[in-house]
Amino acid sequence: MPKDLSTRLIHDDYVPPAGYRAVPPGVFKGSTVLFPDAATVRERVKAFGLRDGYSYGLYGTPTTYTLEQRLCALEGARHCLLGPSGQAAIALVNLGLLATGDELLLPSNVYGPALRHARTTLPPLGITHQCYDPMDAIDLARKLGPRTKLVWVEAPGSITMEFPDLRKLVAIAKEQGAVVALDNTWGAGVAFKPFEIGVDISIHALTKYPSGGADVLMGSVTTNDDALHERLRVTYLDLGMGVGANDVELVLRGLPTLEARYRLHDATTRDLASWMAGQPAVRQVLHPALESSPGHEHWASHCSLAAGLFSVLFDSTYTPAQVDTFCDHLDLFGIGLSWGGPMSLVMPYELPCIRSGNACYEGHLVRFSIGLESADDLREDLAQALKAGFGA
Ligand SMILES: *Cc1c(COP(=O)(O)O)cnc(C)c1O
Repeated sequence: MPKDLSTRLIHDDYVPPAGYRAVPPGVFKGSTVLFPDAATVRERVKAFGLRDGYSYGLYGTPTTYTLEQRLCALEGARHCLLGPSGQAAIALVNLGLLATGDELLLPSNVYGPALRHARTTLPPLGITHQCYDPMDAIDLARKLGPRTKLVWVEAPGSITMEFPDLRKLVAIAKEQGAVVALDNTWGAGVAFKPFEIGVDISIHALTKYPSGGADVLMGSVTTNDDALHERLRVTYLDLGMGVGANDVELVLRGLPTLEARYRLHDATTRDLASWMAGQPAVRQVLHPALESSPGHEHWASHCSLAAGLFSVLFDSTYTPAQVDTFCDHLDLFGIGLSWGGPMSLVMPYELPCIRSGNACYEGHLVRFSIGLESADDLREDLAQALKAGFGA
């Protein structure tokens, strides 16, 4: 059948030879998935969204399934769902598992936007929340009730870096029949194995260490529980969550170097955090592998590694303007949110805005995300900025 050029450039008979292999997995794209015949598509409609085949681009491709499988291997899980960001993964867990009348419990040092979600999106649905002090298991026990369906844990806490007794918190929550979800972004599947300590669900901001490039946003929800996965999968489909192949390719590219990068981030960060602890302007360094940091003993009993984050409290006798001068004088540190990429970052925080538990910090908090630059260069940069900001 003779065809016009426009038609021939869309429909052709060429099939590439089978057997091509390379180190990276292939990148498969498509909104429409094509079926060989009408009977096959009729049959497949019954299994839309199941991972044993292909139905529609949003419901999975060889590329998304490959990343899901690798993340299952990373965490020791059976099921994985990929969402457009770490925040989307958090929202998916809440919306998938909670209904009117339910309550969720969040650690008081929880990742900020997760608290915002509990304060804004969930109340009109009749879902309430309370914050518990993650460093006080009795506080969690007191706040667990018959309406508590979901308990979030995070280790260490965002920004203030307290490391809770995860095993104990998980045991208390499960004893009361609550589902326990972990924000495992800091651990990245490398520092500790979440399902070995008993959590039901683990979420990641793949945006951070798994991608490692500071060039993509993505999140994951993993679990070993078939029933929980099924509930989350239904909500996932209903919310139209999915990820693009080009973004998945970036995370697949980052994963093989995840553990090596994590170890390097960790080593440089411990070096710099210890050095900062000896500087006169610094009141306290918050880094779970340092003995001066809250929950250090819990970090030591759960983890072997410690990511690339730490916070510093500058003495309250200094002014916020001095803190800003310090940040602005750093040459090698970008100023901005997020972490896990190659470039070191710095962020000043106003403490009262981020902390609702009973812990009380004095001073001005600055958080550092240490990248992959040389430790010596970063230390030199910190030293000159400390002089500029604090004269010491
Ligand atoms: C960054 C982060 C998230 C959210 O990830 P995004 O991909 O930026 O939405 C969630 N939890 C923690 C602890 C994070 O640091």
